[in-house]
Amino acid sequence: MPLVDLLGQTLVRERLTSMVVNGRVPQALLFVGPQGVGKDLAALSLVQALICPARENGDGCGRCPSCIQLKRQLYPDLMIVEPEKRQIKIEQIRELQDFISYAPVVGDRRIIIIRDAHRLNQLAANALLKTLEEPNPAVSFILLSHRHNLLLATVLSRCLMLHFISLSGPIIVQILAQQAAAEGVAQADLEEAAAWSGGSMERAIFFLEPANIDWCRNFVERFSELPKKSMQAALALAEELSQTDNLEVVFFVLRSFLHDAILYAQEVENLTSTLSGWSDKVADFAGLGVQPLLSIRQQLLAIERDLAVNINLKLAFEAFFMKIAVGI
Ligand SMILES: [Zn+2]
Repeated sequence: MPLVDLLGQTLVRERLTSMVVNGRVPQALLFVGPQGVGKDLAALSLVQALICPARENGDGCGRCPSCIQLKRQLYPDLMIVEPEKRQIKIEQIRELQDFISYAPVVGDRRIIIIRDAHRLNQLAANALLKTLEEPNPAVSFILLSHRHNLLLATVLSRCLMLHFISLSGPIIVQILAQQAAAEGVAQADLEEAAAWSGGSMERAIFFLEPANIDWCRNFVERFSELPKKSMQAALALAEELSQTDNLEVVFFVLRSFLHDAILYAQEVENLTSTLSGWSDKVADFAGLGVQPLLSIRQQLLAIERDLAVNINLKLAFEAFFMKIAVGI
């Protein structure tokens, strides 16, 4: 995909295009911003622009052997590193170092994309730092992260950071309409998926499935009623959530719900709810009071942060929900 097709990220897109056109792409770029807003696509588009010998206006042509190899994930001078079991380990950085120690096969550089760069463990981050400290004009790095505050400051300081923003509702609808998964889906359902997405394409695609919206509604309802419920309800919810594949959505929904409840408790006027149809539940939950709500949010953020270090999610959710249900 060419950079010009990257929707909803105008500033980043213009900046990348100008870097390519002027031949001034820094050795290490770091794309930060929420999940599902185009960081990965932008990285691949940038790679295409960098490797294409028939580049036009800062974009790869999409037709030459290099562009085609890239599209088929066979381009030999690109390596993509991503977490294995939630961590990027030192062995992976050693492989990367080995990869860049050889001259490029077809292009003028070797390119490394590191997905979820905040999941580099300590050893791996230090090893990567060493590599970043020895600039090599034949190597480019593109790091991607939605939690860049977890990266070592020394790694951050070696990268040029570009900020991606949440996608607007109309942009989400526009992108959704181009997806195979959305074929035959009514406009109203596209808009509903966009409304639930909180600006993330990944979540929008998840919410294209009406059953997923129902699941989420039900989950919000059970969560919001926890203060009136028993320990058993808290344990049951923890059990269920610890087994879901949709953790990212779960945390997003909980964060959004608590955000709204805190604003409500603080009597912020003209509160527009993050997601539709929540107002009654938010108002009810806000009755817990500002301080308890802030403390609940703290605990939620702590669980989310600890996900990177293989916590026992069921126990963490149990403690979290019980605190809300019975004040433990
Ligand atoms: Zn090309």
